[in-house]
Amino acid sequence: MSISIADGVIDGVTIQKTITEELIPYDETPADANHKAHIVNPPMNLHIWRPGMEGQDIVDLARLTGTEIMALCGFKFVPKRNPDKYDACDVCMKIAGHILSQE
Ligand SMILES: [Zn+2]
Repeated sequence: MSISIADGVIDGVTIQKTITEELIPYDETPADANHKAHIVNPPMNLHIWRPGMEGQDIVDLARLTGTEIMALCGFKFVPKRNPDKYDACDVCMKIAGHILSQE
């Protein structure tokens, strides 16, 4: 088990820290200084989203299938790395805060 602030989750009004089982091994290549842990939400990833999926589900599916997804900040990536190693993306955090403040 790991606690994942992950390529995090925006679920309605809350940014959840989700606890997920690591079913798919992460790429354990050395940490990349340029890589950040981004936040993913369903509305920006409708190409992979299915009804009922939350942000974390999208990240897991993308990691499983090698599908590129888009973070709140517009960064496109295929999730492979363990986000626990990285700092949260400032832009994603700012946008998430903005979304939450509008609720
Ligand atoms: Zn970001």
